[in-house]
Amino acid sequence: MSQQQPIIVQKFGGSSVADVAGIRRVAAHAVATRRSGKRVVVVVSAMGKTTDQLVQLAHEVTPTPDRRELDMLLTAGERISMAILAMAIRDLGEPATSMTGSQCGIITNDAPGGARIVEVRAFRVQDALDAGQIVIVAGFQGVSWKKEVTTLGRGGSDTTAVALAAALSAEACEIYSDVDGVYSADPRKVTDARRLDELGHDEMLAMARAGAKVLGADAVAWARLHDVALYARATDGRPGETIVRLNPPADRPWIAAATLRPQCVLLNWSGDVANLATTLDTSAVPPIFSLQLPTQTLLLVGRDVADAVDSQFGRLIDRLREMPDTAGRLPTLVSGTLVSIVGPGVGRECDLLTPFRAALHTHLNAETPVLAHGLTLSCLLPPDQADAAVAALHAAFLGGAA
Ligand code: ASP
Ligand code: MG
Repeated sequence: MSQQQPIIVQKFGGSSVADVAGIRRVAAHAVATRRSGKRVVVVVSAMGKTTDQLVQLAHEVTPTPDRRELDMLLTAGERISMAILAMAIRDLGEPATSMTGSQCGIITNDAPGGARIVEVRAFRVQDALDAGQIVIVAGFQGVSWKKEVTTLGRGGSDTTAVALAAALSAEACEIYSDVDGVYSADPRKVTDARRLDELGHDEMLAMARAGAKVLGADAVAWARLHDVALYARATDGRPGETIVRLNPPADRPWIAAATLRPQCVLLNWSGDVANLATTLDTSAVPPIFSLQLPTQTLLLVGRDVADAVDSQFGRLIDRLREMPDTAGRLPTLVSGTLVSIVGPGVGRECDLLTPFRAALHTHLNAETPVLAHGLTLSCLLPPDQADAAVAALHAAFLGGAA
């Protein structure tokens, strides 16, 4: 009987489960969804700033926490939320079971601090759902083939939700947070930014990589691969949402958003590409953009908040510094904030470069490279200019006032 009911995966971020009142609201929400005739999986993040606090705790003990033990520590945050939420749901009279990533069959590779999901064997979740349980899942974690507990990188609970939604053939994957969707720019900084009602997976992925918040890039990449529709909504029940799906309406704007991504580095190197390719293992820090000409390489790399990525990033930069080209020149490394416009029009509309440069004329000089990559057109600017630049791009391309 209950096997006929559609499955809904709902993910709640740290701010939604920050305290007991928040936990009770999420519990009530899950119960209401269950009582409307759905089978419900709830994926939770750690309560409030728990993950940050745990990272800090580890660094108070040692400046270089062991990666395995750090993963072990960080997964504890989500275990707290899942157990407390399961209790709160039971208190409302519905059966609920909490499960760790490992118990849900989220199998990852062995990269500590930023593991990738390779397979989801959600049999236990499926059985519990069929038995009428609301299943509460600890986000942001999995288990490797070697049975090590792993974490999926900061913000990884979104990825857990999407991966489970795909594995369970869920009807929807709903991502709840303190905002009611994805905006054309950060609404705290650009006052006339507007909510985007529908987006394609490709566009959303490009936006997330260019720094847009709300939905994690890995999660969107997984959703795109497995054709999972995402619904980004506010936990407080405000109306409105952003739907991310395979085929959004064709008549939507050609430029969807103006974004910024702090802490990026652009490497400009005029050396032997073969040498670079063998010396540099970019799989640890996948570049946002790369261009390899016979005599010149441009590589744009983002620096993530995650400690693991940070140290990989540091090693990458160190290696680059030791690689003079054939004329003995070192690579130029420029750090800054990546400022971009993103939308299906990039790559199709020929003359976006001129208006892009025009909108940013007070920020760019003739030498600043403007990079087109996929659905994104970006440049790297000093961090203190980024907000003004995003406002100028939003005004020029999305019809707002700068
Ligand atoms: N708790 C983890 C973090 O803060 C994962 C998540 O919230 O998605 O990064
Ligand atoms: Mg998040």
